[in-house]
Amino acid sequence: MTPKKVTTNPPFGANQAREKSPVHLDDADEAGESTLEVGSPKSWAAGVPGVLHSTIPALAGMGVSRSRKTLLAMNQKDGFDCMSCAWPDPTHRKTFEFCENGAKAVTWEATPVTIGSEFWAEHPVSDLRDRSEYWLGMQGRLTEPVYKAAGDDHYRPLSWAEAFRLLAEKLNGLDSPDQAAFYTSGRTSNEAAFAYQLFVRAFGTNNLPDCSNMCHESSGWAMGQTIGIGKATITYDDFGKADLIIVMGQNPGTNHPRMLTALEEAKENGAEIVAVNPMPEAGLRRYKNPQKVKGIIGHGTEMADQFVQVRLGGDMALLQAVSTRVLAAEAANPGTVLDHEFLREHCQGLEELTAHLAQVDEKAVLAATGLQTADIDELAARYLRAEKVIITWAMGLTQHKKGVATIKEIINLLLLRGNIGKPGAGASPIRGHSNVQGDRTMGIWEQMPPAFLDAIEREFGFDPPREHGMDSVETIRGLRDGRVKVFMALGGNLVGAISDTGAAEAAMRGAEMTVQVSTKLNRSHAVVGDEALILPTKGRTEIDRQATGEQFVSVEDTVCAVHPSWGKVRPVAPNLLSEVAIVSRLARAVLGTKVGVDWVGFERDYDLVREHISHVVAGCDDYNAKIRQDGGFLLPNGPRDSRTFPTPTGKAMLTVNDLEYLDRPVGTLILQSLRSHDQFNTTIYGHDDRYRGIKKGRHVVFINPNDLVELGLDDEQMVDVHGVYDDGVERVLRGFRAVSYPTARGCAAAYYPEANVLVPLDHVAEGSNTPVSKAVIVRVEPARTVEAVPTM
Ligand code: SF4
Repeated sequence: MTPKKVTTNPPFGANQAREKSPVHLDDADEAGESTLEVGSPKSWAAGVPGVLHSTIPALAGMGVSRSRKTLLAMNQKDGFDCMSCAWPDPTHRKTFEFCENGAKAVTWEATPVTIGSEFWAEHPVSDLRDRSEYWLGMQGRLTEPVYKAAGDDHYRPLSWAEAFRLLAEKLNGLDSPDQAAFYTSGRTSNEAAFAYQLFVRAFGTNNLPDCSNMCHESSGWAMGQTIGIGKATITYDDFGKADLIIVMGQNPGTNHPRMLTALEEAKENGAEIVAVNPMPEAGLRRYKNPQKVKGIIGHGTEMADQFVQVRLGGDMALLQAVSTRVLAAEAANPGTVLDHEFLREHCQGLEELTAHLAQVDEKAVLAATGLQTADIDELAARYLRAEKVIITWAMGLTQHKKGVATIKEIINLLLLRGNIGKPGAGASPIRGHSNVQGDRTMGIWEQMPPAFLDAIEREFGFDPPREHGMDSVETIRGLRDGRVKVFMALGGNLVGAISDTGAAEAAMRGAEMTVQVSTKLNRSHAVVGDEALILPTKGRTEIDRQATGEQFVSVEDTVCAVHPSWGKVRPVAPNLLSEVAIVSRLARAVLGTKVGVDWVGFERDYDLVREHISHVVAGCDDYNAKIRQDGGFLLPNGPRDSRTFPTPTGKAMLTVNDLEYLDRPVGTLILQSLRSHDQFNTTIYGHDDRYRGIKKGRHVVFINPNDLVELGLDDEQMVDVHGVYDDGVERVLRGFRAVSYPTARGCAAAYYPEANVLVPLDHVAEGSNTPVSKAVIVRVEPARTVEAVPTM
């Protein structure tokens, strides 16, 4: 029998006892996982601890002056946009428009600690590979370009000119432009994203994977196919007008904390809130708003009126069951429940949906959801009572095999009662990275539609490639198979973020050249190709001065509001280039005069980039003027603004989706990956997850107490977590602590990115190709000591 390949957890977290890093947000890292403490989950979020956890690390990490300059400018109209999540800003802003996690993100980026030239001599790449994400990030800001030659184990400093020359030589030496892939992270500004995709298409490929491939791709697909636009159909103000807000598969208290303020305002205006999630999360239980007296010294606001503890992957069944009840209510009282006028004028597919939902098997719904009939009845009754309903969601819905179909069921439910295109109602995917939506608008997509490519051709006089390119999963496959030889990333940490860590790292190591444009180190600088370049860039907080003066950039938030972002503090090093400058210089080095684009002008004056955006990107006409309006502007959105649906039929589509849910074999659990409170995406700020009662460690797997008993495991027992897939690879997380936690029965959770090890690369959502990180079948067994395990 061929022995299985074994892939196990790399050092993402706090599993090392090494020398001290220069600045410490949390000394726990150096102590290792043996110091892990398990307490009780909290029943409320924010309050005074939220303020302390914002300000103390900021003051310690940046000092008084830099903290004041950054925190007070954050999310202000003349300040910079928080580089963390994509939560929108209210029109009337307060002095403090940030949350604990925004403050951590700023502290992380604006730290004055820098990496000097001697670092590269002291730390070979093989050493960086053994370090945790936390340690890598804590080394400070990157300050100069560095290059690792083939066969060398060290990065060595070099000039910018030499860096661009090397990269241009490599790219121009490829047999085909499609042998290169150009990744983008959601931090990239609109201006840099537009210039980047233009360069990539002028170079000759549509290989533009991005972080959206791994998060809200399912939302984009589902919404595009049903209402014609893959974006939220609400504005910020709609939260305050809603009667009911259903928050699905989402943990705002950690991932978009200022959303709690919007939910609190909605409650004060009379809205009900329903939380649908396998785990109870503190922020959706009670919120102590630190900007209100009742949040500081009072009880705060009780948030969710109903907690629907759905099983992982059961959301699709739940939504179908609620829609079934809506149709039953209509059948009982014809003409009084559905929004007939809206359905007649604007929608298509009601008959087919009605016939399909008539077949829904309540037994299957209860098995899929793990709920009682009464829970679903209660949710349906709330939905039927409300005139204006918003449904928001995040990764808890998108990262499932049936993620696209599940979101189509959200659209079905909303359409039935006309909850799209009226105040206080709509669909709202909540994006997790500040400009991930804007980057898409600017053309960062491997499948941009012909209209966009035609506009590029008209504006710049070259014919961009028309064949679809590779997304993130396909890029890893391409690297693995040798189809992709050069991988460049404008920000981000693809090997850290994507599924199947063992496969992804092996694939990346097979590249001929890897290139990272970054502010700080992460795992993607340690797992690299034969040759590797690191190009250091300015952060969002930093002043960006070019030949024509100080520049601003622009970003789009999760509700399609576009606004400017001005850096406020001096860059940490003189040799940093902005992302726009890096792309422009790279384009000149690679393309020369091949296309008629004024790359020099792009770098000198970002208004020139915006002028072209005006001509190419739909909804961005007169961009330079609109972006200078007070607070920016809202991109047009047919479903939201006028109930016009840019689908092939011009109607919103009610869709029929066959119910499917995960059936776990006896003795297994369904595991989801999730973030701790001390992290943002793959960036680990510290090793506590205080809302869930975890301190000084990350190697935990949360399991329902009854499941622990059933599996014969004790609370806090050391365990190994094995992925259950029959593809010849044993995927395992070794040496984790089983933590008794009130998650839904049969469901478990472990932190991302550590749990990525367990998700096979080909385990993706139908249609969107998003890694299925919320539905991993695992076997949890007592930890066993093993001899050195061969890795891939
Ligand atoms: S809610 Fe999101 S965007 Fe707003 S300050 Fe917090 S992390 Fe930043």
